[in-house]
Amino acid sequence: MSTDTPSDRGAGPRRIEVYEGREAVVEFDPDLTFECVDDCTWCCHHGVLLYDRDLIELAARANLAETTTDFRGEKFVTREPKDREAHVDEDGNACAFLREDGLCSLHLEEDWKPTRCSVFPLGVWLEEGDLHVDIRDSAHDHCDGLNVSDRRVIENLEAFLPEVLWDLENPDSERVL
Ligand code: SF4
Ligand code: SF4
Repeated sequence: MSTDTPSDRGAGPRRIEVYEGREAVVEFDPDLTFECVDDCTWCCHHGVLLYDRDLIELAARANLAETTTDFRGEKFVTREPKDREAHVDEDGNACAFLREDGLCSLHLEEDWKPTRCSVFPLGVWLEEGDLHVDIRDSAHDHCDGLNVSDRRVIENLEAFLPEVLWDLENPDSERVL
């Protein structure tokens, strides 16, 4: 992955080659750092969008009838009421795969998670054929992992942006349940 040098910082959006021949237009501050914070789990309180390839992968690991739901013609992981106070949204719901201890059962037991779960706290969208990436507005308000470590997001984009994103007709991550 190629990145700009420190002297290039602050110059507005920049194109970064994340995979060979696959560029992203980075809209966020290149100095932004991120490390997921244990016990936060905020982004797992919501129903996550499943791209078609995620659905195929999930079908090999879970019962889709029990763990997915349709919304506006698309598939999402189901939010479900949890019988606990921690790791739930204000309405007591969380992602069907979020365990009581705040860990993801899919990630832990299947070594896999939906594409959208890797992308957070970033958001992606297509603009004139280019994949753009920025911090989601909701992450500024709720994600505890921003700017708490030395891990610069711009130097680790492949960890947030699975390559499948470049193959999608509509990767827009603003669609939520
Ligand atoms: S909101 Fe941010 S810090 Fe919290 S679990 Fe999600 S990625 Fe991690
Ligand atoms: S699938 Fe796992 S990582 Fe994704 S939202 Fe649900 S609990 Fe969180």
